[in-house]
Amino acid sequence: MNPTNEILKLRGKVQHYAWGGFDYIPALLQVDNPEHKPYAEYWMGAHPGAPSLVQRGADEVPLNTLIASDPATYLGQEVYDDFGELPYLFKVLDVREMLSIQVHPTREEAIKGFDAEEAAAIPINAADRNYKDRNHKPEVMVALGEFWLLHGFKTRDKLLKVLNEVEAFHFLIPDFGEGYYQLYKTVMELPQEQVDEILRPLVQQALANDDTLPGQPAYWIRKLYSTGQELTNIDRGIFSIYFFNIVQLQAGEAIFQGAGVPHAYLQGQNIELMANSDNVLRGGLTPKHIDVPELLKHTLFEGIEPNVLKGEVLSGGEVNYPCPVSDFAISKIDLLPELRHTATSNSAEIFIVTEGELRTVNVYHRFKKGDCFFVPPATSYELETTSGCTLFKAFVPA
Ligand SMILES: [Zn+2]
Repeated sequence: MNPTNEILKLRGKVQHYAWGGFDYIPALLQVDNPEHKPYAEYWMGAHPGAPSLVQRGADEVPLNTLIASDPATYLGQEVYDDFGELPYLFKVLDVREMLSIQVHPTREEAIKGFDAEEAAAIPINAADRNYKDRNHKPEVMVALGEFWLLHGFKTRDKLLKVLNEVEAFHFLIPDFGEGYYQLYKTVMELPQEQVDEILRPLVQQALANDDTLPGQPAYWIRKLYSTGQELTNIDRGIFSIYFFNIVQLQAGEAIFQGAGVPHAYLQGQNIELMANSDNVLRGGLTPKHIDVPELLKHTLFEGIEPNVLKGEVLSGGEVNYPCPVSDFAISKIDLLPELRHTATSNSAEIFIVTEGELRTVNVYHRFKKGDCFFVPPATSYELETTSGCTLFKAFVPA
């Protein structure tokens, strides 16, 4: 219970990963970036490595500390019993350079993998450590503008068309005849020399073509090799750019990535919500460790038609993006001046304002673009705006 209907202002944590953009997150947070640092991610949550700070009077308390001090009040007994912590991490991402191709394990596989690596005494921060925890890592993202990503293998006909059209891939047609697994295994296990031989002409072609579109693999190859690096040790992730669906999302569209679905964020800004886990198996577009046998074990080898979620319209300007997991849920609220949004939280909720400003009615707060706030479970609140505003809400589904 939250008898005081307390709403708590949060301060998230910026992650300056090298792939991040320079302007979007600073503009959202309304801060200057005079050192021109990359602002890749803005984290909102209770991750022990970078907890958000909760404003309490003149003090700031880490959200994980606050929750641990009274889990029944700040998390709710049921969520505490099920997860023992805030089960989600909420983020804003600004993807300037492509991220690595990755696959996440199921929870059962993560437990097995983690326990095996512990038993083998592989240090938790070792470069070849796959499992950092015993949790799964489903993710949902909502685009904040035009967003591009790789998501799952193309369906059979589309992929066969690619193998036929790209001459350098003709030798793979018999492998694909045996299925997705054999095709992918072949390219992931090819000696690097052969990878270079096969991909070099494709990279050269892409670099020579300056009117490619983001729906085409050549566009991303150009982007990957735009700095004129030598065409040796070519990234075998390029095969995946051809084999996977290249998906375009418009602002307000979402996509869910469950266990096993290979994916990579290519470009744009989004709101991301995920389970608390760092379990990532990489498959290319990265200088980091690739454990091919482990990757092959956990990849979903089937063609998929990406399921782009437009959201279900609820009352009060709210659009919900249904996700098939119990760890988290996400909605977008477009608040109009004449429309008050009234609700009672069912779980620990985190909000971020992405446009405009609003105020809370019962206990007075003002929040503007870039602000975020934490609403404990069983809190009644009303939001209203004079300017119109957009906010995103993360919560735990009932
Ligand atoms: Zn991922």
